[in-house]
Amino acid sequence: MNPADVHIGTMDCLIVWIRRELRIDDHLALYAALQDARKVVPLFIIDKGFHASSPAKKKVVLDGLADLRSSLKYLGGNLVIRNGDPSAVLHALLDDTSASGVYLTGEFSPDLRLRDEKIRSSVESRGKLWREFHDHLLLDGERILQGRSSPYTVYTAFRRAWRDFEHTIPPSLPKIRRIVTPGLPSDPIPDVVNMLPGAALHAFPPGGESAALNELESFLSGRVMAYHEKRDFPALEGTSRLSHHLSTGSAGVRTVYHKLMGRSAGSRGLQTQGPARFLDELIWREFYYQILANFPRVTSGSFKTAYDQILWPSDKRYFDAWCAGMTGYPIVDAAMRQLRAEGWMHNRTRMIVASFLIKDLHVDWRKGEEYFMQHLADGDVALNNGGWQWCAGSGNDAQPWFRMFNPVSQSRKFDPHGEYITSYLPEIRRVPEKFVHEPWLMPPPVQQKAGCRIGTDYPAPIVDHARERVVALEMYRGLGGRQFARKNLPSFTHVKDLP
Ligand code: FAD
Repeated sequence: MNPADVHIGTMDCLIVWIRRELRIDDHLALYAALQDARKVVPLFIIDKGFHASSPAKKKVVLDGLADLRSSLKYLGGNLVIRNGDPSAVLHALLDDTSASGVYLTGEFSPDLRLRDEKIRSSVESRGKLWREFHDHLLLDGERILQGRSSPYTVYTAFRRAWRDFEHTIPPSLPKIRRIVTPGLPSDPIPDVVNMLPGAALHAFPPGGESAALNELESFLSGRVMAYHEKRDFPALEGTSRLSHHLSTGSAGVRTVYHKLMGRSAGSRGLQTQGPARFLDELIWREFYYQILANFPRVTSGSFKTAYDQILWPSDKRYFDAWCAGMTGYPIVDAAMRQLRAEGWMHNRTRMIVASFLIKDLHVDWRKGEEYFMQHLADGDVALNNGGWQWCAGSGNDAQPWFRMFNPVSQSRKFDPHGEYITSYLPEIRRVPEKFVHEPWLMPPPVQQKAGCRIGTDYPAPIVDHARERVVALEMYRGLGGRQFARKNLPSFTHVKDLP
């Protein structure tokens, strides 16, 4: 059968291959399949990608599967789970169900796109249908590109264009009322406790569509109004905590957008600062996705290719100390311990620890990028890569290479009373507030009294920021920076820290 001969709307059965859309609501591929066929097989494949993900993300996905299965059952259907290689699983299921084809949401990262392309051609060669939908973003890049020949590489210009097309964001889809799934065997949802023995599961964020909708509701009914004021302070509950839901699709981004607008927009759009700033972050998300789509090479190298010439000394001991949260800089160590314990880190501290790894410890940013993916519940190739390249200065519209975060002044500014630091570093808990950002300055009697002997109970700083800053400037100056170093850099002493 030629795919063109399939009469949409009258098919008997379709498979919906769910990957990062762990939801029922506003899920385009699922909704379309229900319009086009009498029976639908919602399928999740536990493949090597799942097994390679971080413990926190595994837990979030397993929560999401349990929630999805119970919602599907409530609607009369079921979730089919299979373990194995996606191509083999899909072909076997096409045989078993005589389904007319596969509906799914398209991916962005180059390796997954390549895999999907191979499976698509093998499915189509059997005369079956393969339909990919775009459901991860509010606006697809093609619309924003209208009238331009090249993609946007500067956020502010992208944002302007995005706002021009904002009115074309489709409404949320109608609610699904009923699903018919053919009777099929399913593998069980793996038991999270068996899969992650010894992990402190309660510390990882909860996954699933119900949890996502609760979190969204709680954010929009309160925190969003002060988002612009509180979003930079890691000790405060100032942000939405939706990132793992957006990256696993238990929250659809259209749902987030329309609920935000429904709550906060007046006749002239978003006038209040909190909601408007929150929307800007969603646009950053769209920006990094369109960078990944248009420049897939960023997953293996610098966006500004000259930056790949940097020779990173990459001392393993420094990298290990950073991973363990034992650098002697409390704000860095608190954040790295939060990451390991909770599978999440605040955006401000993501920037601080990334800058520290790259510019103070001179470790290749790709090692940090990889480590984040091994631990984050919200690990997302587009956003993680965008964030790391921003900090390395190698990205499009990145932090200028000669700017670097001073970990002590960042700490003083964004955790003024050391609440965040002390909540993750028990050894510093009794240190007087005036020393909490620089405990190495404590005189010995104060160390004794605080039960925090530097070098024994808590490490002395493994590097001197002032010195390493100069080394980083030299490293960067020797390459991509060469073209603009001298004119942009009046003198080392005038280089300011970011606000
Ligand atoms: P909120 O402040 O409530 O933001 C709402 C949503 O907007 C987020 O969920 C996210 O989808 C998006 N967003 C927020 N900040 C950014 C940003 N700086 N860039 C792009 N989109 C943003 N985010 C991930 O989801 N996955 C990652 O793997 C990831 N890696 C990062 C690595 C580095 C080095 C840096 C600096 C940032 C990274 N971010 C990543 C972006 C950001 O830190 C997180 O999205 C945010 O901290 C998640 O918390 P939240 O949902 O409460 O954010």
